[in-house]
Amino acid sequence: MNFDLNFPVNAATVSRIADELIGLAPEGFYEDQDEVLAGASNLRVLGALAKICEIPFLERIRDFTDQSLLEAFDPALLNRGLFVPVSRDDSRLYFAIANPWDTTGEDAVSTRFPDLEPQPILVPYAEIIQVIETVSGAMGPSNRELESIEVEEQSESVQYFDVSAEHEEPLARLVAKILSDAIRERASDVHIKCGIDDVTFSYRIDGDMREKKPIPIKLKNRIDAFILNLMGIAPEERVKRPGISGRFGVVYLNRTIDIRFERHRTYRGFHITMRILDKAHFEAKLGVGSLSFDPATLFELERVMSIPAGIIVMSGPTGSGKSTTLNAMLRELNRPEENILTLENPVEDEIPGVMHCDIRPNEFKPMITSFMRSDPDIILMGEVRDLDSAELAIEAAITGHKVLTTIHTPRASQIIERFEQLGIERWKIAQTLKAACAQRLIKLLCRSCRVSRDRLLERDIRKFHLPDDLRNHRVFARKPEGCAECNGRGYLGRTAILEIIPITPEWSDQLSKGELTPYELEKKVRSSGELPSLRECGLDLLREGKTDLEALRKSIDLSSAE
Ligand SMILES: [Zn+2]
Repeated sequence: MNFDLNFPVNAATVSRIADELIGLAPEGFYEDQDEVLAGASNLRVLGALAKICEIPFLERIRDFTDQSLLEAFDPALLNRGLFVPVSRDDSRLYFAIANPWDTTGEDAVSTRFPDLEPQPILVPYAEIIQVIETVSGAMGPSNRELESIEVEEQSESVQYFDVSAEHEEPLARLVAKILSDAIRERASDVHIKCGIDDVTFSYRIDGDMREKKPIPIKLKNRIDAFILNLMGIAPEERVKRPGISGRFGVVYLNRTIDIRFERHRTYRGFHITMRILDKAHFEAKLGVGSLSFDPATLFELERVMSIPAGIIVMSGPTGSGKSTTLNAMLRELNRPEENILTLENPVEDEIPGVMHCDIRPNEFKPMITSFMRSDPDIILMGEVRDLDSAELAIEAAITGHKVLTTIHTPRASQIIERFEQLGIERWKIAQTLKAACAQRLIKLLCRSCRVSRDRLLERDIRKFHLPDDLRNHRVFARKPEGCAECNGRGYLGRTAILEIIPITPEWSDQLSKGELTPYELEKKVRSSGELPSLRECGLDLLREGKTDLEALRKSIDLSSAE
């Protein structure tokens, strides 16, 4: 069966529908019921069902639905019962239904218009939804008006919505405000979720979720449709597909910003996540701004980047800015003579001159072959997550490529063990890995409102094994109520801290032979005192008054003194 009517139909009815369709075709045209059902569209099936139920069938009602009748019903009721009053005469009220066995519409019509005889018409589900939408968002413009801002052809190119301009339609103003506030407050994501009584939306700012003022529930479908329209996705798609992904662009004060869109159908409606791919964030440069690592770390990073072949792995939890750093490294390595390819899912940041490949998990193996044929010099692989991707990284490094990638482990030294867990022999990873790095993002105190503290609490010094020099060191803490500058948060922005374990030829040899464990290697690097650990980098930020203890202990494990 190829049809889906959005309501259940039992086997006996399916069989009657098939017979009805066979009866409509010339004698002997169909072999059997299976054949007719295999080729039947939703519309033909609905038409046959209407015949069986002895009610009229109409494909389209939106052009002649009586607006005053429509307004006589609560949009929420129309939505719940999936019915639409269409027209009336002296004795009857014609109403559209999607499901001939659902009596909600008939009950509602006879209650509201007791003197008229309710006359159902079977109409496709998507058409009914379309009409209900024109009334369900009373504050916004009509669906027809909304469609006028939709771009005619569903092209692949990104459409831009100006969020800093004045909009006439209330709904456009609402969506523009949600997005422009998010960009202004430097949110990385906007979440919109349907609840029972309202639509909640929240921003993720510096990793924390902040809930905003809820939106009336009646606007939920309008907001949904508006955003889908920005991507040129037809509103019907949202009832058909459980998940929708896409991309659109906004203009904010003459700056264009890409938005990556994910939508999941939920019990109450939907959950939308919009990731704001602000170029200001992606154009992060090594050694500057949020990537201003300490000089020794930066020097070491640049040194390992200059090694012609081998793997550089960045570890850290989700949201630790691993790909921002890798992309900054890639931008640094991006020269016209280098052939650079990326394997990402999805592509986050397009760098001119770099060949980005959007790779889906099941395409991994077949893509590698064609991928390697183009003979890249540098490969950026989104993540090592399974044996396939681990083997590709090793193979590419052995055959003389530079590979940048990420992996999920808390500590840099655990990268080697993680490769082993995925099924790679220790000697292979020991000989190809050039640098094992771990990164965290640390929240920075708002300079305008941070509060000075003469010293740290003795209890904290003992609990976190803090070094003696911090005992009498002046530090700063967050002002809980914040200020206007930081939107009442007390923190403003984040900075990355990085620890590197370089794998020199000598250490690589000892690791291969099993004379050195990854943990012993980490201790060796630390005891040499040349390269700081995540903990040391973090404590430096505390000494400099850039962050507070609270922010540090949320991002790094301070409980052991290493
Ligand atoms: Zn502040």
